[in-house]
Amino acid sequence: GPPVSIVSAIGNAARSGVLMKGGDHLERAGKIDLVAFDKTGTLTKGETTVADIEGFGVADGEVLSLAATAEKKSEHHLADAIVDAARERPTAATDGGATVAQADDTDASLQSVPDPDDFDVVAGKGVIAHVGVSGEAGGSSDESDGGHEVIVGNRALLDDRDIDIPSQVTDYVREREERGETVVHVIRDGDIIGAIAMRDELREAAPGVVAALRDAGIETVMLTGDNERTAAAVAEEVGREAGETGLRKRGGDAATQFDEYRAELLPEDKQSVIEAYQADGHVVAMVGDGINDAPSLATADVGIAMGAAGTDTAIETADMALMADDLERIPYAVKLSKATRWNVL
Ligand code: ADP
Ligand code: MG
Repeated sequence: GPPVSIVSAIGNAARSGVLMKGGDHLERAGKIDLVAFDKTGTLTKGETTVADIEGFGVADGEVLSLAATAEKKSEHHLADAIVDAARERPTAATDGGATVAQADDTDASLQSVPDPDDFDVVAGKGVIAHVGVSGEAGGSSDESDGGHEVIVGNRALLDDRDIDIPSQVTDYVREREERGETVVHVIRDGDIIGAIAMRDELREAAPGVVAALRDAGIETVMLTGDNERTAAAVAEEVGREAGETGLRKRGGDAATQFDEYRAELLPEDKQSVIEAYQADGHVVAMVGDGINDAPSLATADVGIAMGAAGTDTAIETADMALMADDLERIPYAVKLSKATRWNVL
């Protein structure tokens, strides 16, 4: 059986909200010298909300409702934020030409979001859908009948489809991304009709956790599918917050706290980044939350899934699960496993 010190360490870990699958994981955890964090849902709360909608020659409300229909069948956190925002718009009823917003907040007041006729996910890029005539659920998507192809996605998806992005749009996107927001474009029948900016706050514990790991001599990196500018803004926010709480910074790029961050990664890219660190001799822990993180969680020497917000796939793939989404347990878990290793040797 496993050495007693490991058994009791697992017991200690479980009591403090860290679940580990077995003693060998704990031993590997003792050698971790690099911790990679997924950004969205791991360093951030995973409660994405719409911060701003910008229509380009089209009313903001039209942009939001078309995007919501296109995203309705997607399980992505950006899709959820868009659909929720569309549902929560005040119900507008026209009454003798005047728009009357209903103030009651019962479920009956929620706007209905029509289903798309069809829908395809482009992993790490967005969605492509066909939607019927505005407001008519199940309507034909035949353009002659008033149906539309609607794309909601990032720049890479627009590039794939050879869609031109006017400078008015790129200016708007840049401005929002520099604030750490994630922006998706909304395309109707090949034309950009709007953009939707979304925000997800940092978890309060994130800056302190990154700083504590670095103070323990462990390298930290941030990996994200999000774009370069948003990634830079969030990494800087982590550094700034850590500075404000008076935590010591050492080595690396003090402005970001992280030794490195990597943006615009597809799920398989996150996995190859982990493999590259391992090839450089690092023992790597990966902390993630989503379906997209499953390959990198499995590849890392130790995969740590965020508990409550984590998807089942991520938790099954991981070696440890953090219950209660408590990031603060990570330095503890690493420290605990280092101590345990001394006992076993
Ligand atoms: P992460 O969880 O690391 O932020 P993802 O791989 O889930 O990254 O997504 C990367 C990017 O792909 C998003 O920032 C967004 O630009 C785009 N994207 C993914 N899914 C959708 C979607 N359903 N609608 C719009 N854009 C999406
Ligand atoms: Mg994520």
